Amino acid sequence: MPHFIDVIIPVPLQKLFTYSVTEAESQFLKPGMRVAVPFGKSKIYTGIVFKVHNNEPTAYEAKDIQQILDEAPIVNPPQLKLWEWIASYYMCTLGDVMRAALPNAFILESETVVTKSKLKTIDESNLKDDEFLVYEALQHQSSLKIHDISNILDKKNVLPVIKRLIEKNAVSVEEEVYEKYRPKLVRFVKLHNNYASESALQNLLEELSRAPKQSEVVLTLFSISAKTKKPVKVSDLSEQSGGSSAIIKTLIDKGILEEYHIQMDRVQFEGEEAEASKKLNEYQETALTEIKSAFQNQQVTLLHGVTSSGKTEIYVKLIEAVIAKGRQVLYLLPEIALTAQLINRLQDYFGEKVSVFHSKYSSHERVEVWNNVLQNSAKAQIILGARSSIFLPFSDLGLIVVDEEHEQSFKQFDPAPRYQARDTAVVLGYMHKANVLMGSATPSLESYFNAKQNKYGFVELKYRHNDVLMPDIELVDIKEKRKKKRMKGHFSDRLMEEMTETLEAGQQVILFQNRRGFSPIVECNTCGHSPQCPNCDVSLTYHQYRSQLRCHYCGYVMAMIKGCTACGSPELDSKGFGTEQIEEEVKVLFPNHKVARMDLDTTRGKYGYEKIITALEQQEIDILVGTQMLTKGLDFRNVRLVGIMNADNMLNFPDFRAHERSFQLMLQVSGRAGRTQERGKVLIQTYNPHHNILQQVSTNNYIDMFNEQMNDRYNFKYPPVYKQIKITLKHKDYNRVETASIWYAKSLRQLFGDHVLGPESPPIARIRNQFHKNILVKIPKKQSLSKTKEAIIKVNNSFQSIKDFRSVRVILNVDNF
Ligand code: ADP
Ligand code: ZN
Ligand code: ZN
Repeated sequence: MPHFIDVIIPVPLQKLFTYSVTEAESQFLKPGMRVAVPFGKSKIYTGIVFKVHNNEPTAYEAKDIQQILDEAPIVNPPQLKLWEWIASYYMCTLGDVMRAALPNAFILESETVVTKSKLKTIDESNLKDDEFLVYEALQHQSSLKIHDISNILDKKNVLPVIKRLIEKNAVSVEEEVYEKYRPKLVRFVKLHNNYASESALQNLLEELSRAPKQSEVVLTLFSISAKTKKPVKVSDLSEQSGGSSAIIKTLIDKGILEEYHIQMDRVQFEGEEAEASKKLNEYQETALTEIKSAFQNQQVTLLHGVTSSGKTEIYVKLIEAVIAKGRQVLYLLPEIALTAQLINRLQDYFGEKVSVFHSKYSSHERVEVWNNVLQNSAKAQIILGARSSIFLPFSDLGLIVVDEEHEQSFKQFDPAPRYQARDTAVVLGYMHKANVLMGSATPSLESYFNAKQNKYGFVELKYRHNDVLMPDIELVDIKEKRKKKRMKGHFSDRLMEEMTETLEAGQQVILFQNRRGFSPIVECNTCGHSPQCPNCDVSLTYHQYRSQLRCHYCGYVMAMIKGCTACGSPELDSKGFGTEQIEEEVKVLFPNHKVARMDLDTTRGKYGYEKIITALEQQEIDILVGTQMLTKGLDFRNVRLVGIMNADNMLNFPDFRAHERSFQLMLQVSGRAGRTQERGKVLIQTYNPHHNILQQVSTNNYIDMFNEQMNDRYNFKYPPVYKQIKITLKHKDYNRVETASIWYAKSLRQLFGDHVLGPESPPIARIRNQFHKNILVKIPKKQSLSKTKEAIIKVNNSFQSIKDFRSVRVILNVDNF
């Protein structure tokens, strides 16, 4: 009987690919193992076995696989099920999901080279037949590739043989077998056993008396080991003894020191013993009881708790209970880099049990976390991570916490899979029979709606911990202030008064402006021309610090112009303002205080955010200016005042969620004020103080906001009342994308009538030289989502078969928010 496997390959093609395997291979292979397979004319891909079976493909002849790369699955069955769900729900391929899910290091790079062992003699009688064949071949040639060994043994699964040969010291390998991942080895030294006795050591020191540097190294080593009773790193020894690596090498060569390596995880927790979790206050206690009872009937519960109510402490109690049963916990965060504070807090309670899965970590670090989770090791019982951590190989999840569940960054926009991690977490939780707790001070309309419909349990926490009052929010009418000439730059007299008072009291200020750079538009005073990005239909933003004009959509950069590029006039003006300009103005207005800025431009690099956050915590900064990065769950003790420089551009953003988002953003940033005893103050500057959203923000009235926004969503058939799928077409030729999108929309309209909107050009119609057109399909709750998607896929297939349209890129985005 012939044997086959279906393989997921990381390419955006709809189907799985079938390869032929031998009987022995088919018994060895399990879903979730990696194989190297030939693809196309000459490519080799790393694929994941999806299924082992006996059905010969009818459309093509199955090729043989090239290599088996694992001895055991690295992707487990629940993961494969989740991949299938994501591919089907978000309308992408399993290959797309595979690419997003696996750390890069799992994907085959180069070949491992097997060489002869350095040991001169080994006991050949000890070798099994297949081992001997490899060993013998290495007597004739200096090295073998895995591929050669495969040929010698006439089988593809050669890793076990190589592994046994290594154990028997018969061969060495020069690279981790077929993986980019290499364990991190740390070099240690110890005194050679010959000098273990005191007299031997005494003699040695006498011998070294004419080499004081060497003797210093030996003495230092002696004293470090006596003190710490732990292995001594070469790097520590060198640092503490002042001996260079050359001196240490000499000592090793002389046989006085012995070096050895220990494999270590790259990310090590170095902390104190775990600390007990806090005693909950009475509101938290009640909320915890309510959550537990909601979980009796409901898999998912929403916790609506005001900022600083201590939601984290409640999560901690739930986590304690789950890990006590030996189950795993996933704690999802919107942006991991912003949450150094939270990592520290959880590590205080749970120590080594917390692993962080971090987009800024290297691929190697991610493989380590992956392997720890796969082995269900105690070290990775609690995973703290951003959206991609839903892809980890959990085997027994007991709880998923989705913190700040309203955050946009849970949704991946590009590339596919365009998944929403919060929603995927619900499916993941369902597969593991794990409870899901979503928490937020400003829930998304989706989740709040689900809670109201009793799809989710619902628990409220209305008071801040220690009865700290919610901040006092004041709206400042800057139209009025301008008229009365009470503005200095972008600062109203009210804001300056409050800032002065706060700073004089030794407290800190946060200023929020949702735009980076100096100003978004540079305009010629004479002819009105403003420099545009050559690749996108958007004005270039002026960045004063580097004297550059930059495109925030494609990254295009040019030096700031000296005069107008159209008429040559030297009189240029700037319109609108960003964080850089605010920072400049603050420096002039408050010259005796320290100002810092936190936005995309100042937080690059692995520890970019941490540096600024730590400086604020340690009060090295008096005034922090920043973008929405400031809003995310930061807990600062000494910030009394928050200033929102301009509420209007958020409110006027052309998107049906603009109002909901503005509300969330403003309340979250306000929540950074006055988190200790003294009541915080928030000033919101606006041209439109009577705007409903601003009134709702200033009275912290979530319910009013929810009801009013839901009304609009009903009227205009927007989510969460209707589901929606956005179809974006892109092409460098405007006419082609226009014709294509008209065809596409017309075909959809034949199926869904006026539930199809568009095609429309988005506000920025061209990005990176590609013209965009959007089509929106609105799906009533009672219409089958899966049938709708099938129909769209049919339209899409016909579309792709039209020659003129083949070069048009189509992007399907389900639940685009
Ligand atoms: P939230 O996540 O709801 O904004 P946090 O969990 O960050 O609130 O809590 C705000 C602050 O109050 C934190 O510094 C936290 O340590 C403290 N806190 C909350 N609950 C308690 C408690 N029960 N005992 C002591 N401190 C608490
Ligand atoms: Zn001009
Ligand atoms: Zn651009």
